Amino acid sequence: MSTHATSPSQDLLDRYERSLIPVFGTPQLVLERGEGAWVWDVDGRRYLDLVGGIAVNALGHNHPALVAAVSKQVGEMAHISNFFTSRVQVELAERILAIAAAPEGSGVFFANSGAEAIEAAIKLSRRTGRTGIVAAEGAFHGRTTGALALTHKAAYREPFAPLLDGVSHVPFNDIEALRAAVGSSTAAVVLEPVQGEAGAVVADPAYLRAAREITTAAGALLVIDEVQSGVGRTGDWFGHTASGIVPDAITLAKGLGGGLPIGALVTFGSDVTGLLTAGQHGSTFGGNPLVAAAALSVLSTIEVDGLLAHVTQMGEHLASSVAALEHPDVVEVRGRGLLRAVVLRSELSAAVTVAARDAGFLVNPVAPDAIRLVPPLTISRDELDLFVTALPSLIATAKEPAP
Ligand SMILES: *Cc1c(COP(=O)(O)O)cnc(C)c1O
Repeated sequence: MSTHATSPSQDLLDRYERSLIPVFGTPQLVLERGEGAWVWDVDGRRYLDLVGGIAVNALGHNHPALVAAVSKQVGEMAHISNFFTSRVQVELAERILAIAAAPEGSGVFFANSGAEAIEAAIKLSRRTGRTGIVAAEGAFHGRTTGALALTHKAAYREPFAPLLDGVSHVPFNDIEALRAAVGSSTAAVVLEPVQGEAGAVVADPAYLRAAREITTAAGALLVIDEVQSGVGRTGDWFGHTASGIVPDAITLAKGLGGGLPIGALVTFGSDVTGLLTAGQHGSTFGGNPLVAAAALSVLSTIEVDGLLAHVTQMGEHLASSVAALEHPDVVEVRGRGLLRAVVLRSELSAAVTVAARDAGFLVNPVAPDAIRLVPPLTISRDELDLFVTALPSLIATAKEPAP
């Protein structure tokens, strides 16, 4: 019963509305295919993808290395359960420990998402015999009930209260507030090196070093949530790398699988790794051969193609070229590497996002005054320049009174 009066997009959006639980609201577009940093909708319109699946499509769309690795693996075996292991799973764990510079005795647990990696970290922290968790204001750690307790935004948490007990939130980047909140009942402090959902707010390296010192003194774990900031996103392998700290655990997901769903908890050193023993945690899909092959191809492409240096250069280029616009409505470009937000002087981000989409750019209005840009790590200077050049006209369109 297709109607000829509506476009393919409108038809699918109508059917979406009648068949999906509306937690995401109305989708902005119906997308069909992608190539590099570009995507096409079902009506044939092309967009420069500066959202990258929310910091997931690290290699962009349809990257030949990812396509080859996943195609080969699905033709051999996709899934085997964690009663068994595979060469790709073992190689991926070794590779993650190597890039994390994790000491002897460290280990990896594979999950399927960021929230599940956080759940594993929460369970790890319970094995200290303590139950307190300190997280930061502005934090986002996921939507499952455990992870949600650590997420700060009241609108996400309150409909589901009561959540996990013992969680407190302290102002981000405030060393004394953290020191005051951590004590003998604290199992873990959980922090993001860059708060992506808060609009690319960067942790001071001194704050992360203080967090390390405070948690060590209190006998609590320091868990760094690298779900968004990890795997090259900041121009280092991990967001905490620049601070020089050795955390007790990190969580990974988003960019790790380049679009295939994989998460990971990495524990540092044998004391922490030994907190979780046989039978205490598990996952049916976690780290199956298909996603492990995908993640291995992401990590080796980042290395072989020199993407860490590229990300640093592109991030600096984006920030400096937006600054060079000297636009009166733009405050700054916040963040590191390609985890960025254009901060606006007023609450224009939703309107700029609509104007951007109409002009062929996908961006994310992460806060009323901030537009998040988390494009593929492979994006080129010319592609970024297309957006920067268009930005003044997008802002002008956003400021036009509604017709
Ligand atoms: C996205 C995100 C999560 C949750 O990941 P999901 O895969 O959506 O469950 C957790 N922590 C951070 C820092 C994130 O950005």
